[in-house]
Amino acid sequence: MSGLIDLHTHSSVSDGTETPAQLVRAAIAAGLDTVAITDHDSTAGWQAACAAAAGTGLTVIPGMELSTRHGWRSVHLLAYLFNPLDGGIIVETGRIRDARLTRAESIVQRLSADYDLEWEDVLAQTTEGATVGRPHIADALVAKGHVPNRSAAFESILHPRSGYFEPHYAPDPLDAVRLVVAAGGVPVLAHPGTRGRENVIPEDKIAILVEAGLFGLEIHHRENTESGKQRLFELAEEFDLAITGSSDYHGEGKPNRLGENTTTREVLDRIVAAGTGTTPYRG
Ligand code: AMP
Ligand code: FE
Ligand code: FE
Ligand code: ZN
Repeated sequence: MSGLIDLHTHSSVSDGTETPAQLVRAAIAAGLDTVAITDHDSTAGWQAACAAAAGTGLTVIPGMELSTRHGWRSVHLLAYLFNPLDGGIIVETGRIRDARLTRAESIVQRLSADYDLEWEDVLAQTTEGATVGRPHIADALVAKGHVPNRSAAFESILHPRSGYFEPHYAPDPLDAVRLVVAAGGVPVLAHPGTRGRENVIPEDKIAILVEAGLFGLEIHHRENTESGKQRLFELAEEFDLAITGSSDYHGEGKPNRLGENTTTREVLDRIVAAGTGTTPYRG
């Protein structure tokens, strides 16, 4: 089998701009052979993505990008092939989505003192039940003409140092890895090298995550810096971790294009062999 494997994408179930079905069609158009749908803190897109892939030859890997927090730092954990009906997963993702909603309302409340922006404007940018985040606030700011696009909003009004930002509840990365493993899933740290070599998660912390079942590191990602990647290659070697690459596609919400970074078939096969909570959907 040939074809590209992209294991990190978002739909409108979280902060992507395309529905799961549109995402699947875009994946086929981009020449992918396998795509993972990894919405933030939600599995709500799995069914529609698989339905859209039926008969197309595309393989869909059910996944998620779980929000976690280490101190003040946001850490994203990709999870593949876990049981979506696992009680721990259902409770924890529900808790995170609720916290994200409260946090977004609170950010908008403070923004509304300085900008013409209301909560309804943000809701208008989300789909029913979506995992709400700053991207939806960004889209509302764009719709109101305050900024030209999402990325501009992230660089200014929604930046952590803008004065409007606030974090939301998220579990510790170790608890998140344990949760995913307990649900039969395969945990991979998402873009762990975005802040350069010095800020890559320290060796002793990685060791603890590996002990709990961490499977891999997403090294090939446009937001990992060159020095960050170097450090990650060293850690992957030291701890015998799998190396993945992916686009982190968000439709028109981000410049990232499907298939711009990919994962090898050998690594995908190992992920599929390790995941016991559900199976890939071969459309
Ligand atoms: P939040 O999780 O609510 O703090 O928002 C951060 C999320 O925004 C991350 O998942 C990013 O991938 C996402 N995002 C979507 N579009 C953009 C963009 N244009 N610039 C920066 N981040 C973005
Ligand atoms: Fe995102
Ligand atoms: Fe992420
Ligand atoms: Zn992502």
